Amino acid sequence: MENNLVTTAYIVASALFILSLAGLSQPETAKRGNLLGILGMAIAFGATALICQGYPVQIGSIGLGVLVGVLAAARVAMTDMPEMVALLNSFVGLAAVLVGFAEYLQPSAALTGTDITVHRVEIYIGVFIGIVTFTGSMIAVAKLRGWVPSRAVLLPARHVFTLGMLGAIAVLVAPFLTATGSPGMWILAAMTAIAGIFGIVIVMAIGGADMAVVISLLNSYSGLASAAAGFMLNNDLLIITGALVGSSGAILSYIMCKGMNRSFVNVLLGGFGETASSGKAAALEGSATSTTTGEVVELLANAQSVVIVPGYGMAVAQAQHPVAEITRLLRAQGKQVRFGIHPVAGRMPGHMNVLLAEANVPYDIVLEMDEINDDLSHTDVVLVVGANDTVNPSAKNDPTSPIAGMPVMEVWEADTVVVLKRGMSSGYAGVENPLFFNDNTLMLFGDAKTNVNGILAQLSASTAPTPALAAA
Ligand code: NDP
Repeated sequence: MENNLVTTAYIVASALFILSLAGLSQPETAKRGNLLGILGMAIAFGATALICQGYPVQIGSIGLGVLVGVLAAARVAMTDMPEMVALLNSFVGLAAVLVGFAEYLQPSAALTGTDITVHRVEIYIGVFIGIVTFTGSMIAVAKLRGWVPSRAVLLPARHVFTLGMLGAIAVLVAPFLTATGSPGMWILAAMTAIAGIFGIVIVMAIGGADMAVVISLLNSYSGLASAAAGFMLNNDLLIITGALVGSSGAILSYIMCKGMNRSFVNVLLGGFGETASSGKAAALEGSATSTTTGEVVELLANAQSVVIVPGYGMAVAQAQHPVAEITRLLRAQGKQVRFGIHPVAGRMPGHMNVLLAEANVPYDIVLEMDEINDDLSHTDVVLVVGANDTVNPSAKNDPTSPIAGMPVMEVWEADTVVVLKRGMSSGYAGVENPLFFNDNTLMLFGDAKTNVNGILAQLSASTAPTPALAAA
């Protein structure tokens, strides 16, 4: 009876997770998708609690998890969200490793004959995926926080080293399957250590702009790790949710790779096969022209078509609300205002879309890079709000650039480009940007929110009815 109830609950939870993913694919239905996911998770929790013994331990661990999760989620700044996601991915990986070791030390007594071998294979694969996810995600966190360089760090003879590690992991399978007791434990520990280093090396080898793909790939690995834990624990729901996360993460990574003109297999194997194109980009010459908020207001007043290209700096400055206000004012004057979103702008997939939705910018004027790039040459003014790598022309024009080949927003095609940033520093990929020295580029230096607020105040003043007219 209890088992039937749990099976039914698991089926309902799985269906809710699928509906949740479907809802999350559109901004209009994303909130509903989130709620369905929360409901599915609550049902999954309840059903699993029903079949587990040891309620004090269960309530204690769930309570502690909920407390830490709520506190962390409430405190994390929107700009730190990618680190939080990478950290949560690493926890999933670590959980799979711990489950693997626990299952080795205390396997189910019901396992006999070939079932034991199959279970050992599940443990080996689960621990391997889990530890690669754990160490890879920790390096991703370190790169995002700037604790280690965001550029590709390539070891000498790294291909030999990588293949050697994979070879050793493959060779250790056979003795692990036949060993018992502590020798088996040592083999598992040795494989865990080698795979842990493998995770570090492959993520360190991914440079700058490609980190976006790696984050979504690690998310996919975390799904595979929980599916592997599901196999070890014989838990169908864990297998289903792991497969959902793993496959949707892999699809997202593939789409991002296509958008970034990168080989999926190369990124999957940690930039395998790439030479250090992280060579030196051509040196930049010339000087940048700075401008003022007053000049930008004048430009906007004379423009008919405006495109706003947001980037990570808009998220840091939290400038999305005044940007949305400016958009409303300009549209009220009959001007065409649209947003151009690069697939890896910001620090997580969909980062800019989330910020603009939060500021109530209508979805139909927020366009993907491919939808708007061709229109930029017919645009009067482009406002680049805190974007850098995603508007860097060297990706298109300089084959020696570390970001060569990555599609970018071709903002330089517009009549005038205004770049809002604090100074001349490079973006996440650490590559200089020749856009800032173009004749049709004006630099509006300073914090993006302060400057956007300045533009907004002057625009509002110039569009407000004069007291005499208002009284008439
Ligand atoms: P970048 O990271 O290239 O550049 C952001 C710019 O914002 C900086 O050059 C900085 O210049 C400026 N900035 C920072 N703070 C402020 C502020 N308060 N006011 C004004 N400007 C500010 O941003 P992009 O969005 O163009 O590119 C994203 C990069 O991140 C890509 O390389 C992408 O691959 C990578 N990435 C993306 C992920 C994703 O999933 N989207 C995940 C991981 C990495 P200054 O200091 O001079 O102000």
